[in-house]
Amino acid sequence: MDTGEGAHSCTPRLELAFRRIESRHLSFLLVTNPKNIYYLTGFRGSAGVLLVAAEKSCLWVDPRYTLQAHIQATGAEVIEERHGLLRAAAAWLKKSKRPRIRKLPRVGFEEGNLPYAAFVQLRRATQGRVRFTAAGELLEDLRAIKDSREIECIRQAGEISCVAFEEIRNLIKPGVREADLANELEYRMRQKGAEGPAFETIVASGPRGAWPHARASLNPLEAGQFVIFDFGAIVRGYSADVTRTLYVGRPNRRARSLYKAVLGAQEAALEALRVGFQGSEPDRAARRFLEQVRLGRFFTHSTGHGVGLDVHEPPRLAKNEKRRLTAGNVVTVEPGIYIESFGGIRIEDTVLIGERGPEVLTPASKKDWVVGGS
Ligand code: ZN
Ligand code: ZN
Repeated sequence: MDTGEGAHSCTPRLELAFRRIESRHLSFLLVTNPKNIYYLTGFRGSAGVLLVAAEKSCLWVDPRYTLQAHIQATGAEVIEERHGLLRAAAAWLKKSKRPRIRKLPRVGFEEGNLPYAAFVQLRRATQGRVRFTAAGELLEDLRAIKDSREIECIRQAGEISCVAFEEIRNLIKPGVREADLANELEYRMRQKGAEGPAFETIVASGPRGAWPHARASLNPLEAGQFVIFDFGAIVRGYSADVTRTLYVGRPNRRARSLYKAVLGAQEAALEALRVGFQGSEPDRAARRFLEQVRLGRFFTHSTGHGVGLDVHEPPRLAKNEKRRLTAGNVVTVEPGIYIESFGGIRIEDTVLIGERGPEVLTPASKKDWVVGGS
């Protein structure tokens, strides 16, 4: 099915992707990750196969998605296929001619998004006419640098998340169940225009806070404990990721110094979020800060990760990350400490790295961390 010439004009992202593909000496890239298909073409179905090629890219969809693809996809020819999308792509590849190149055309594939059985089927169907090469994070590396429209989506997601959180603040008190707070937070994010939560909202109070990825349980909050809220909204496919830790009741000196330490570590990491710095530098800054106050051994994960169409994507802020930060990267900064049978404290922001420094996109207060203390 053809949508007319206009729809085929290559989009800047497809063009950039193709240049990367060529620099890797590939003739085609077979895209099976729906998020990458959305990124390159605007088609947001849950299934589809995109073949990025020099002259014309093709997007195969099944009949559930034909209408949607014709409306959403730009830069690729939409082809309806009823008998297997990969099989159709294989048939297309088998026929593809590379007259000036004697060697077999090389086809990149997304090894993280193609089941082994599907790969075997694909290889069989192309009957040795092409060579397949794992493409690695070729498209994820492109996605790591956000354009202004993507940044706007994440900014909105951050704002929605934080406004919703400020709204439920007065509900946070002893006796209220974690799950009810998680529900309320997700409901309010949707009410403000979120497509949904970016991940299952974490509300973890008391000792359960020592599990960095605890789910919200039916436990009621108790006075004299920290409670971690880790949440985020999705706007047009883009996520925000934010964590605030509150203390229920009146914090003693130990609680105050622990909270201050994590906040200090987060601020130190934010300071090290500069264009040209390696991804290991913010991590080292946070870790060093906590080590100086003898809390280093309680910081058990890395400092942050890229956020965008996926909640976890490149670049990483971690000990061994050598890649350098670039303007347009959006990352989380989330040091935390986790103490068995006591609880946890984590403070996380989603942050845009700009030429002139970092910009926090999740404005919820970090200073108002005590609730229900009377
Ligand atoms: Zn988070
Ligand atoms: Zn995170």
